[in-house]
Formats: sequence, structure tokens, C-alpha cells
Amino acid sequence: MRKNFETRYPGRVLIRKDKKFERLFLEAGKKNVELMKKAAGRAKAMDYFYEFFTSMKRVKEMRSFDGKVIGYFCNFVPEEIIYACGALPLRLCSGFYDSVLPAEELLPRDICPLIKSSFGFKILGLPYFDLCDAVIIPTSCDGKKKLGEVLSDYLPVYVLELPNSKDGEQSSKFWLSEIKSLRSWIEGLTGVKAGKSELREAIELLHERTAVFRRLYELRKCKKPVISGRDSLLVVQASFYDDVKRWIGRTSKLCDELEEKTRKNKGICPADTARLLLTGSPVIWPNWKVLNIVEGSGGVIVIDELCSGVQHLYNPVEVDEFTEEGMLRAIAERYLLPSVCPCFLRSDDRIDRLLELGKKFAVDGVVYHSLRLCQLYDMESTKVKRVLDEEGIPMLKIHTDYSLEDVEPIRTRVEAFLEMIKVGRVKG
Ligand code: SF4
Ligand code: SF4
Repeated sequence: MRKNFETRYPGRVLIRKDKKFERLFLEAGKKNVELMKKAAGRAKAMDYFYEFFTSMKRVKEMRSFDGKVIGYFCNFVPEEIIYACGALPLRLCSGFYDSVLPAEELLPRDICPLIKSSFGFKILGLPYFDLCDAVIIPTSCDGKKKLGEVLSDYLPVYVLELPNSKDGEQSSKFWLSEIKSLRSWIEGLTGVKAGKSELREAIELLHERTAVFRRLYELRKCKKPVISGRDSLLVVQASFYDDVKRWIGRTSKLCDELEEKTRKNKGICPADTARLLLTGSPVIWPNWKVLNIVEGSGGVIVIDELCSGVQHLYNPVEVDEFTEEGMLRAIAERYLLPSVCPCFLRSDDRIDRLLELGKKFAVDGVVYHSLRLCQLYDMESTKVKRVLDEEGIPMLKIHTDYSLEDVEPIRTRVEAFLEMIKVGRVKG
């Protein structure tokens, strides 16, 4: 196998640059966009986001950025600190199917596709991973812990240690010290000190992003949905890579258009369409499989509880005191307390969050996405289902990976689930 590899870097591990994969990545995105564009009544402002994911414009733009680019995984890495150090953050979790197999040349087969796909980006020299000068990876699951070690053969890696529990003073103290060490590490990498004014500026910038995201979030509550789950998730995931100010501008424009649609009562589907909540393992571009099946079968995802969706942008850093210590404390809290990642010892707050979202967004059912070999979400699904059953909310668990082989059996189950919701409504 390895004899095909062209580039040796930095001596121990091999990187294969292959333009074919870049093309396949764009093609996978274009197929999704074709489906999304077919949706009746979609907002014109979405065209920016469709283009964003089907062209290399942003990659080219970032190549000319002369500061450091820092990649990260999961939802625990404070972007505020990266910006405060004059660097650009990029979230590297990947949903690309074709990079899974090449990664298996170096990683075991039996780990989740998200980890293999993301690592595949590194060994194939694909953007955005190839733009990164360093990577931050939290110890959120076993696969991530070990991925940090594997990646350190390629580039500088900071393994961000998470506490096992979010509760208690010991966890808070430990986490705050981790955040401070991370700041020192990034400062060392960039040569820029993230002091009081830099931190404040970064916090305020991301407050603007949260504010516009919350406008979009509120618009998803409309009785007649004005935006699909696919479009909403695409907007969130554009924020993983886009220039923040431009993203804020484009998302504001989208919200203006959606508000206009709401005023005119012009939705993307009839008001009696089954309203669904999507939860579970992260759904990441271009792995739109479950979204395409659900929304292509006549349901609409009105809200998600994904770390790659709403959870990524919803919470602002809430600062009591704009001192350096006060801001670092507020940043630490923001990236720990609201997280409902199943890597923590207890999952009660995730279940409470699901019930709360279910009520707020008037959902008819829950779609639970369980990525193959992601034990955390797989194991939690039984408890989540039990609680939802008690509340009379139907749940469909989809256990799958990034391949397209199981599309038809999943479609059949989704159609039956939507039919059951419809019948339940008539009886109700
Ligand atoms: S669910 Fe948790 S561990 Fe998995 S990718 Fe999201 S933040 Fe990371
Ligand atoms: S999907 Fe599951 S196994 Fe994969 S990285 Fe996230 S938490 Fe870990």
C-alpha cells in the first residue's frame, strides 16, 4: 500500500497528496446541494452557503492568510483564545466517506468513521486540514485521545484534557487550569499574547455570531417551517471555516429573508409536515445521508441537538468581570457547563435538553443518529428512548456509518416512522 504514497513527512509518517480526493469531496457536496436546491420555497440567501461548500474559494483565501491556522476537534476548544492570539480556528471533524478507507491504512478499522474520515484528510493532504499549523484535540472519547497521539507524528498537537464530570469544584478548577495552559501553548505557537484587550475583542466578536445564530434558531420555531434542517446545519457548519464577520453578514441576510417569509406565511412545506428533532452522533458535511433521507421522505428537521449543529453556536461566553481572570473563567465555563456531550459521566442534562427542545419546537418525533462504533451515543440511546416513550414522543434510532449502502433500508424505516406519526396525529 505505502509504495503509492508520494510525500514523506516528517520522516516517520506518510502523506499522499491526491487531487482525486479533493474532486470527490466537492462532488459529494454538489450532490447534496442539488437535492437541497430542489426544496420549494427555499431562501435565496442560501446560495452563498451552497457555493461556499462546493467551491475552493475559502481555501484559496485562507492560503494567503499569513498568521497561524489552528485546527480543532469537538466542542470544547475556545475559539475566543485562538482569535485572541491572532490565529484562525478551524473545526476539523469530517463527514467525508472517501477519506475513511485511506485512513484505515494507518488506523484500525474498528473506530468510528468521524475519526477515520478526519484523519484521512490529513494523510490525503486535503483542505482544510492541510492548512493547519497545529491541532487541538480534547480527550472526549477513546478514539479522540489516541488520535491526538497519532496526529502528533505530523504536526504540533495539544491534547486538551477534559474532566470526567462537569460538576463540582475540583472539575471546574482542573478545567480552568487546562484552559490557561492551552492559552500559554497557543501564545507560544503564535508569538502573540492573549491579554485583556485581545480576549475582550474576541469574546465580543463571537457574541455577535451567537446573536445572529439565535435569530436563525428562533425562526425555526415557526408553525410553517421556513428553513429545512439541511439548510440550517449547512449554515452552522460554514461557521467552522468562514471568516466570522462575513458569516455574520450572510447569516443576517438569510434571517432577514426568512423573517419576510414568516410575515407572508410562506413556508418550505405545509404546516402539518412531521416536525422532527435530530440528536445523537455528530452529522458532519458532506455526510448528509440521514438528513437527505428524512427530508426527502416528507419530514422536516426543525431543530437539532448536535455538537456539530445548535450546540456549536448557541452559547455565548458570559462575562461578569472584564478582567483577564474573569474572562478566562467565563470562557472555561462556556466550554464546559452547557455541553451535553455523552463523554461525561451523567447524561441527565442531555435528556432534559431534548425534552425542552421538543416542547419549544413542537416536535412530533425524534431521530437518533448513532454512528457505528460510537459507543457513547449507542449506549445512551436506550435511556433516551425510555424517557421519550414516557413522554409520548416517538423515537427512531438510525445506526449507520458514512457509506451509502444502507440508504434504502433506512428510507423504508423513516417512511414507516413518518407514517406512524401521521396516523398518531389523526387518532389524537
Ligand atoms: S459528541 Fe462530544 S465527543 Fe463526539 S464529536 Fe461531539 S463534542 Fe466530540
Ligand atoms: S462520534 Fe462518537 S466515537 Fe466518534 S469521535 Fe464522536 S464521540 Fe467519539
